Amino acid sequence: MRDLRALLEPLVLLGELHPALQTSFTGVFDFMGVPYSVPRVVFTGPPAAHDPIRLAIFGGLHGDEPASVLAPLAFLERLAADPARATGYELAVYPLCNPVGYSRATRENGAGVDLNREFWRGSVQPEVQALERELRVNSFHGLIALHADDTAEGIYGYTRGQVLNEALLEPALRSAGYILPRDTRGTIDGWLARDGKIEACFQGVLSAPPGQRPRPFDLIFETPAHAPIDRQVEAAVTALDTILDEYRQFIAYAANL
Ligand SMILES: [Zn+2]
Repeated sequence: MRDLRALLEPLVLLGELHPALQTSFTGVFDFMGVPYSVPRVVFTGPPAAHDPIRLAIFGGLHGDEPASVLAPLAFLERLAADPARATGYELAVYPLCNPVGYSRATRENGAGVDLNREFWRGSVQPEVQALERELRVNSFHGLIALHADDTAEGIYGYTRGQVLNEALLEPALRSAGYILPRDTRGTIDGWLARDGKIEACFQGVLSAPPGQRPRPFDLIFETPAHAPIDRQVEAAVTALDTILDEYRQFIAYAANL
């Protein structure tokens, strides 16, 4: 069993030192007599000339992908040390979306369900219900989900065929490509891929509420699970930094049109 308290304690301590970083626990549920919850960390960056851009970052939907949990935590630690990296942003980070799966190192949650096939399909899984509530209440401008794939030969991502997603993913793959190579195969995880970008996607993956308009950008960034974990974390943190920079430029450009 992995120790969730030891994983999250640094975050709580960090929040005591940095008022810009607030940790809370949403969707408390019980599994085999033990209480679990989905932690949420809100980081408010220094203000910019525009309204805050509200993004959500998700890790650990699959409990056997530890890099996707450690990367958002490392990202938050660096933001606390250098808040300017998130200027103009309000970030809601959910580093541990599947706490039971993480503690038991299983892809599925305690009920044996793959949470990333359950969204907006009337799921009864408490983790999915908690995250759907967060997505509905916050109407985020963008969503980034982190995963690790044990069949991948390098970093890659899903664009869902959206132009903005592709425009954000490509530079993220390029900058993270200095840390881990890109998976350039024509087929990744059974999907057609081009330069590490896949347009199709599974049904029921974490996404914005079906009725939300305008649609936020929603990216999935994958690291190769067999690569050293510190490299995976570094690649994912670099991708997150790049997406923040690129989207900020996009917003500034759109404002000047
Ligand atoms: Zn995954």
